[in-house]
Amino acid sequence: MATIMDGKALSLKLKEQMKQRIEQLKQQGINPKLVVVLVGDNSASQVYVRNKHKSCGEVGIESEVITMPEQTTQQELLEVVERLNQDETVDGILVQLPLPKQIDEKTVLRSILPEKDVDGFHPVNVGLLSIGDECFAPATPSGIIAMFQEYGIDIAGKNCVVIGRSNIVGKPMAALLLKNNATVTICHSKTEDLASYTRRADVVIVATGRRHTLTAEMVKEGAVVVDVGMNRNEQGKLCGDVDYEEVKEKASFITPVPGGVGPMTITELLENTIQAAQRHHRAEK
Ligand code: NAP
Repeated sequence: MATIMDGKALSLKLKEQMKQRIEQLKQQGINPKLVVVLVGDNSASQVYVRNKHKSCGEVGIESEVITMPEQTTQQELLEVVERLNQDETVDGILVQLPLPKQIDEKTVLRSILPEKDVDGFHPVNVGLLSIGDECFAPATPSGIIAMFQEYGIDIAGKNCVVIGRSNIVGKPMAALLLKNNATVTICHSKTEDLASYTRRADVVIVATGRRHTLTAEMVKEGAVVVDVGMNRNEQGKLCGDVDYEEVKEKASFITPVPGGVGPMTITELLENTIQAAQRHHRAEK
């Protein structure tokens, strides 16, 4: 029976520490500020943005949400980003994805100054991550590394398999694992015989958005299993990509859904915002 990696509890603990760090920063005249831009009426995005705003308030990060209508043009959005790039009081800028279809996501992400790109999606930050330099790494994979640290899971030299190759989760996850000296394999929808990779893995990280991607017979006894997926089952209940009830009997550590990776994602966004403020302050000196 696996140890459950409690992302919710760890996130609360880290947020408590952040509160104190932010109080100290404020005494030095550093007031971390995040601006989130939400375009359109996507209801899931509205929930995510509300949670980010609330979490900022909990730790003392100033946050502002700019909402723009569904029919916003790309030019209008770029103008807002440019204004935020120029605004000296803003440390972090996040444009909530997905964007309405008339707006090109890549163009918008590239318009955010890399030093304010707390989501870590700008190609400069992606490049810095891939060469192992200091950068803003995407929040979800960073949160997973923080969980490994909390639970004393040493991934150096371990055989880690990432299922999923998105720019948001899979690829930056692989880069962070590599940075932490793991031996990394990335699998995806075209991978032949997925189970032949997962069965040999010491650590499996699943980020496909497909229920039951990882079942008990695909997992080695004692493996560490991280479930990034967020899906709904037939009853409308939130669930992940892993067959949790069965896999937890075989794994040594496992993350639940909800309460695993999700809460850590927001916490790492807060961490990136604090770091952006500190770097911004250093650059001003
Ligand atoms: P995505 O962009 O749709 O990417 C999914 C990846 O999974 C793709 O690389 C795809 O392969 C691969 N894949 C799909 N079906 C597969 C299969 N049967 N076998 C092997 N690989 C398969 O999704 P994402 O943005 O990475 O997100 C993944 C999941 O994590 C979603 O459920 C999302 O909601 C969740 N998520 C959660 C958090 C959180 O904070 N908890 C944050 C971000 C995302 P191809 O490249 O070949 O298509």
